[in-house]
Order: sequence, then C-alpha cells, then structure tokens
Amino acid sequence: MSESSEAVARAVAERFEELYGAAPHGVWAAPGRVNLIGEHTDYNDGFVMPFALPHTAVAAVARREDGVLRLHSADMEDGVAEFRLDDLAPESDRNWTAYPAGVVWALREAGHPVTGADLHLASTVPAGAGLSSSAALEVVVALALNDLYELGLKGWQLARLCQRAENVYVGAPVGIMDQTASACCETGHALFLDTRDLSQKQIPFDLAAEGMRLLVVDTRVKHSHSEGEYGKRRAGCEKGAALLGVDALRDVPYDGLDAALERLGDEEEVRRLVRHVVTEDQRVERVVSLLESGDTRAIGPVLVEGHASLRDDFRISCPELDLVVDTALATGALGARMTGGGFGGSAIVLAEESDVAAIAKAVEEAFAAAGFTAPRVFEAVPSAGARRVL
Ligand code: ADP
Ligand code: MG
Repeated sequence: MSESSEAVARAVAERFEELYGAAPHGVWAAPGRVNLIGEHTDYNDGFVMPFALPHTAVAAVARREDGVLRLHSADMEDGVAEFRLDDLAPESDRNWTAYPAGVVWALREAGHPVTGADLHLASTVPAGAGLSSSAALEVVVALALNDLYELGLKGWQLARLCQRAENVYVGAPVGIMDQTASACCETGHALFLDTRDLSQKQIPFDLAAEGMRLLVVDTRVKHSHSEGEYGKRRAGCEKGAALLGVDALRDVPYDGLDAALERLGDEEEVRRLVRHVVTEDQRVERVVSLLESGDTRAIGPVLVEGHASLRDDFRISCPELDLVVDTALATGALGARMTGGGFGGSAIVLAEESDVAAIAKAVEEAFAAAGFTAPRVFEAVPSAGARRVL
C-alpha cells in the first residue's frame, strides 16, 4: 500500500471516530473502473474488459449486533443516516444511502448473518462520469461486511450481491461488469470477463512499461435521456435474441452474423443493435489476443472501430464524446473511444507517452471552441481491485 493511500485510510478512520465515538474495526477501499473494450455486452451475456482506476471509495466500518445500520459520506451534505435492518425494502430509498443499504439488504436476503454496521466513507471516484462510483461504493461495503462477518465470499460472489443490490434495491437495471471490475481487478492488468459464467482472466496491461499512456476524458455531461435510452437498447437486444431464437446475443457467433442479420429482415433498429453486440464481443477477443501476443499498439484501431459501432449502430454517443475521439485521433492518438453507458460520461484515449500532453491540450481547446463545459482529463493506470487497507 502506498503512503498516500494509508494516509487516506487513516483520515477516513479518524472521521469515523469523530462521528461515531469509537474506532472502526477496519478500513477498506474499492476502485472505480474504465472499460477498455466490450460496451453494452454485459447484459447480453458477452465479454467485457475493464481495468481498475486508482480512484477509490474508502470506507471505515464497525460491526453492530443490534440490527441498526448507520451511514455517512464525506462527499454528501447530509448527516448520519440511520436504518433498522428489518425495515430495509427495495426501492424505498432514493438517496445515495440506497447503495450501501442495498448491499446489506442483499447479503441478508441471501441468508448471511449481518446484524448491523456503522460506516463512514469518502470517495475519489467522480460520480456520474461513467467510471462506476456506484459499484465502488457497493463493493467497498460488501467487502467490509464479508471480512467483519467472516462470510468467506469470493470477489465474483460479492459482485453478484452488489449487482442485485443495484438492480433490486436501488432499482437500476445494470449488468455485472462494474461490480466485478471493482471486486476482482488487479494492478497492471485488465480483466477479461465472460459475463455469462463470470469466468475471468487477468490480462497484463502495463502501458507505461511500453511507453504508452491511457487518458480518461470525463466530458462532465450526462444527457438527461440516458437512462431511458439504456432501457430501450437493452429491450432491443432482448428482442433481437428472441427473434433469433437464442438465450442472449452472446450466442450469435461472429461468423454467423450476416445470416442472423438476414433473418432479422426489416427490423432495422434491432439489426443495428445485434451488429454492435456481436462485433463488440469479437473486438474484445481481438484485444485479448493482441495484448497476449504483446502487440499492444495494435489495439488502437480496434478501440476506434468500437467507437464507430457505438456511434453508428448502437447510437449512444453524443457530440462531446465524438469530439474527444476525433480530436485525439487527429492529434496522433493510437486509439480512442467512448466508454460506459453513453450520452455523456467519459472517453478513453490510448497514446504514445510523448503525445499525451498535446492530445490533452487539443481536446481542451476543442471543447472550449465548441462552447462545451471544460472536460476533466486524467491518466488512468491499471490499479488494484477492492482490498482491506487498515
Ligand atoms: P456512476 O456509477 O457512473 O458514477 P451512477 O449514477 O451509477 O454513476 O452512481 C452515482 C451515484 O452513486 C451518486 O448519485 C450517489 O448516489 C452514489 N455515490 C457515488 N459516490 C458517492 C459518494 N462519495 N458518497 C455517497 N454517494 C455516492
Ligand atoms: Mg454506476
């Protein structure tokens, strides 16, 4: 653990003690993530390839035996929120507290003997930027309770419980990628995850060693229709699978794509969605084999293809995301694409170390010239998954 993360953990523990009058039983951290490739595949039983950010949600937690849950976030205005575990109910809470409370609910629903907790957290994961601040929050709570209650659950099991918390308790129909990334990623690696059976493989992804960098550009916009559009895309993919007689679009092989599109006849929108998902799964497999054969620079064009597919077939990009990608490529980037759900959020840019400063500047200038809000640009180093820090 670096000195700075230990200092953060100590500060969070101290604040816990001020709030609750006793020291926590431990401090845990769980990261946000960016997805390198594999977008909108996770609810189609397909492949994804996220890596963990250095940005984390850090939580100091203590057990309680009296059926009470108390929650506090350094990043929210409100004071300590208090719940009785027996009162926790799906979709009863529209506040941020639904994420941690949902995890407690999901653990208890699954039969785990959680009898209460006091929790204080602080997060450096930007919220609502497509970098999974919500999963970081869920996973840090799940891991803390897993340790404190000696539940013995593995990372992928915690991820499933966190997804259930978000789907059922919070009421957001998200896939399994974000929680698994936060729980299971490893430093210097991207996580090749099969979302059907949660089998996973750590793929070495150490850009600095090869003279490259990966920038995240948070556009700082979230277009208001994003949630409704996510639901429509999901429904369209399910319709495609039903029309093709498969459980999920994952089951349409890449070399059977033309035949599948033919079968969909004049279902123009469904055809586009199917084409994105099937080609995107194949792009993930291509990126895995390029990285495994040490041909890292060659993933650049695959990222660009992925962006074009999300823009033209899946139709979830927006002017801000397209501007990042176009500007970065025009300034010498090896590859760039939007990442996350779309309609705002973040894009990633793969570039030679020597080009990074010029690309960041060009993107900032292009945003200013277009009259867009200034983006937040930072470098993403593949970092550790969830862990205990104190
Ligand atoms: P993303 O996961 O892409 O950041 P979401 O909309 O899924 O965006 O999750 C963002 C929500 O997570 C926030 O609205 C808030 O409820 C919760 N959240 C994120 N970070 C924090 C934090 N530091 N403290 C409390 N709640 C947080
Ligand atoms: Mg989220």
